[in-house]
Amino acid sequence: MTCHRHRAAAAAIVALALLLPATGCIQNLWRDPGGGKATTLEFTIKKDVQIPERPVVIFLCDGLQKKLFDEMLAAGELPHIKHYLIDRGVYVENAVTSLPTVTYADITALSTGRYPGHTGILGNKWFDPEYLVSQDYTEIDTMALVSDDIRGPTVYELLDHEKSEVVLTQINRGCTRFYENWMRAGVAWFFKMFRRVSMSTTARLQNTAAEANRDKRWPSLVTLYYPSTDEAAHLYGVDSPRYRELIRVFDVEVGDACKAFEKEGLLERLMLVLVTDHGMVNTPRHLDVRAAVSRMGAKLYTKQLYELPVHYWSRVDRFRSPDTIVLVDSYRFAKLYFRLPGLSWNHRPTLEEIRGLEAGWHGWFGLKSAARSGERLDLVKELCALEGVMFAAYGDRGYPEPTVRIIALDGAGLITRRAENGRKLYRYQVTEGRDPLGYADSSAAKALLDGQFHTADQWLAATIETEHPDLVAQLPEMFDSPRAGDLCLFAKPGWDFGDGNRGGHGGLTRDETIVPMIFAGPGLPRGARLPYARTVSLTPTIVEHIRGERSPEIFHRFDDDSLLDKLRAPGQNGPSNN
Ligand SMILES: [Zn+2]
Repeated sequence: MTCHRHRAAAAAIVALALLLPATGCIQNLWRDPGGGKATTLEFTIKKDVQIPERPVVIFLCDGLQKKLFDEMLAAGELPHIKHYLIDRGVYVENAVTSLPTVTYADITALSTGRYPGHTGILGNKWFDPEYLVSQDYTEIDTMALVSDDIRGPTVYELLDHEKSEVVLTQINRGCTRFYENWMRAGVAWFFKMFRRVSMSTTARLQNTAAEANRDKRWPSLVTLYYPSTDEAAHLYGVDSPRYRELIRVFDVEVGDACKAFEKEGLLERLMLVLVTDHGMVNTPRHLDVRAAVSRMGAKLYTKQLYELPVHYWSRVDRFRSPDTIVLVDSYRFAKLYFRLPGLSWNHRPTLEEIRGLEAGWHGWFGLKSAARSGERLDLVKELCALEGVMFAAYGDRGYPEPTVRIIALDGAGLITRRAENGRKLYRYQVTEGRDPLGYADSSAAKALLDGQFHTADQWLAATIETEHPDLVAQLPEMFDSPRAGDLCLFAKPGWDFGDGNRGGHGGLTRDETIVPMIFAGPGLPRGARLPYARTVSLTPTIVEHIRGERSPEIFHRFDDDSLLDKLRAPGQNGPSNN
């Protein structure tokens, strides 16, 4: 989560917080959890409270880098996560998150079982060139709008009559109870008291218990969201003591919650899930991609994308004069949307049309100078030549076979998707020079470069150990939505498209796409490992676990299957027919 807060709004929150002490449960805000201590969470569950058959608690930590997480686990710095989750459950060794690797896109995918290209949430920010709607959820007064924008049911809606609670994340449509926590977390966030933010999330379990005691029912699903880690990594970097400290704080909070569940006799009945939305990398070097595109002659849309309800014709006016929108998301991912000269935003340009744009932006002068030098101006090539760009991706949403072109300075690849008997198949070919995805370096991935179509799960299995796992199966899904942009730029390792942050994500490196995911609970083996999975499987897994069935009318909606069978027998993944 990366939130720019308006100072005025923050000041108002501070004032409110001083005037109105948050009601109830104050002692939990000032508790003192820690290793070796009994739980400091003050709550009891009365004997007459009905516990659902298969309750779930999700610890959702934002921006947890797997490499560092594993290093800290090995060093004994995360004793509670090790004790309550790793030793009691199944650790997915390579869990690949959904593209793009951006908070709102990924938490929505975790909460719906659908890829961002299918939920409409293509990042923290997006532009919809067809409806001229734009959105930026990083503002205090627009973040909650995500709930209106998610296409399709959330896990909370799919659980129907089951009671569910969510703390802090705005992606919660359909839950029975949402604790926004602004009184507690908002002030702490503003003053960068990140430990306090993490503690205030866990403290809400006291409200969960109080409410359960009141209506005699414990919720089937509780989602606890911890955003501090992500913010610390952006501000201070992945190697910073602050980021590491906040991962330790998260561990202590998981421990305090689990000790409280244990004390109340609930622990052995709960399925516990630990998951993160995306990884994180250091970004010591910066490329101002907006300025670069502007220098090439684009008429950039410079206002903030900010969708409070606006009349359609106001939107037409708003986007009438610019011809290019560059949206930088989470600093390492840029979505570019183009309007061709004389045409409306509704027209999606071909790759050739995008290549020719720069010459048009330069007018006759550009055309003449290009003619003089004998070289045609090629916008895509110019963008890929910018220091800091790893490669560009262009999505051709053609029917019936959509394609994605991956274009680097020294090579290009082509993904083609085809549907056969209701099943999606994917082919990847290197069309020019060096393979931008480097799949030839892996014997498993190389074996699929045979010019044939393969299933999503075959691509997942074959590329899971590479620097770019699952891209062949996921990039076409991302480009299913026009909100993904006409051309996407992904930053090189060590670079971002922002200015001044030490860490970022949104890119396609392994440290951004492979994330920690752990399941522990009844029926699952202890201390086991599942070689790989996708985080988009979380919702189908939870829905199957809680409902105890896999009704086809629900399960056909999901972009990947439930993991329950694999979690119960995680010895080998085995190719499924998905
Ligand atoms: Zn995030």
